[in-house]
Amino acid sequence: MKKTTIPGLSKSRYLYGVRCPKYLWLENFRKKELRNEFDEPTEEILAQGHRVGALAQELFPGGIEIPYAGLTIEEQLQQTEEALKHNKVIYEASFQHNGVFVKADILRRVRGGWELHEVKSTSKVKDYHYDDLAAQYHVISNAGIKITKAHLVHINTSYERKGKLDLNQLFTIVNLTETVLEMQPSVEKQIAKEKKMLSGQEPDMPIGPYCFDQYECPYTGYCWRNVPEEGSVFDLAGNGVDCYTLYHEGITKLKDIPLDRVKGKQRQQVEAAKKKQTIVNKEGLQKFLDSLWYPLCYLDFETFTEAVPSYDSQKPYQQIPFQFSLHIQKKPGARLYHHEYLASPGIDPRKEFLDELLKVLPEDGCVMVYYKPFEAGRLEELSKLFPRKKKQIQALIANMIDLLDPFKARHLYSWKQKGSHSLKAVLPAFVEDLSYDDLEIANGGAAMQAYHVMCGLVDSPRKLATLRKHLLTYCMQDTLAMVRLLEVVKLKSGTK
Ligand code: SF4
Repeated sequence: MKKTTIPGLSKSRYLYGVRCPKYLWLENFRKKELRNEFDEPTEEILAQGHRVGALAQELFPGGIEIPYAGLTIEEQLQQTEEALKHNKVIYEASFQHNGVFVKADILRRVRGGWELHEVKSTSKVKDYHYDDLAAQYHVISNAGIKITKAHLVHINTSYERKGKLDLNQLFTIVNLTETVLEMQPSVEKQIAKEKKMLSGQEPDMPIGPYCFDQYECPYTGYCWRNVPEEGSVFDLAGNGVDCYTLYHEGITKLKDIPLDRVKGKQRQQVEAAKKKQTIVNKEGLQKFLDSLWYPLCYLDFETFTEAVPSYDSQKPYQQIPFQFSLHIQKKPGARLYHHEYLASPGIDPRKEFLDELLKVLPEDGCVMVYYKPFEAGRLEELSKLFPRKKKQIQALIANMIDLLDPFKARHLYSWKQKGSHSLKAVLPAFVEDLSYDDLEIANGGAAMQAYHVMCGLVDSPRKLATLRKHLLTYCMQDTLAMVRLLEVVKLKSGTK
């Protein structure tokens, strides 16, 4: 591969190189041809990041912003130089040193220099934040600016909104100066290493856990091209032997893993894959079936989260239920009744959601969910928010049965599940004619995103109606999937 001239480093590119040298090299020289398609962050994620950034700026009001768009690097550097002379707070100040360009989220003038604040919409300090701040500190201080403290500003998930947003509560400011200073010699070495690497050929870097660190690397399509699409060692679930170790030893397929390398559930998975086997423990299945009663209510919730709470009594990243689907069967073999709720966009849906649910759910029903901690957790939160309904909610939780249990205990396990017990893995293994493949919304993450999109579509009734339809179809499919899976459990147990 013939390379063009070596471009300068930015903070992002520096961090790609810290994560994996090949990532940085590919980003510089083969981005157009090899970057995965559809790897751009969604508009909602970008909008959330911008909102958090803008609110964090309000913590340090009255600053001047050095924009990125519409200005050359030189113009940004020049404007920063001016701002450093005249302003006390600067947003997106720009610096360059030794071919590395950085933009600092917030700089605040203090006695003896400037305080640096890097804003992240995460709920805590993560490992790569240290590298991020250390690189900024390196460039800014070498550009001649005295940084007295380096801070990370992140979201405080224990803040609960009451009335107007309290920015001092919404954000947590953590002083990372000591570590950032200790890291300075290693930043210098890393920059030199990256520059040297960029002047050479594509680095020979094996695939590893760093391919999915923070987010999926946009070059997995290229680097993972030799991993079998079906039945690879990376389908091996649970703790035990490391998939990367096996792969680098030349064992690429699950069915080729020697049995003496795996124990417990991993061994069970490998054995099942080798024999294309379905494991059935009739006794275990029957015990589960004996715990059920009628009316049987199959229930599923959809939720959304947001970094900045929109409503009172909401915490950052709290799961807020906005939709449910409920299928009710009054007695064995009886027809199914369906109820559903989907909030209108732009309202706090929790009261309406709960009222609607308690209205349609039979008090004495056996409430079947898939992964009880999720639905029960949301109901516990609602019971705190609406204490008058506490008794009813607690009774509902007490009546909950988890359909995940027989699958998790592997009373029923198919090699097709690839070691996973999620609904999306179990359903296609046992029910071939009910699939999520053709649905516009096919998982909880997409449902959450669709709800956020809906909230921005209040003036587009047609688009809104289409999205509502897709959301309702998706959530209904989740409860129908449970209906069908219980039929499978009965069949395999010998009951039906
Ligand atoms: S996919 Fe993995 S090995 Fe390839 S560039 Fe990305 S992080 Fe590096």
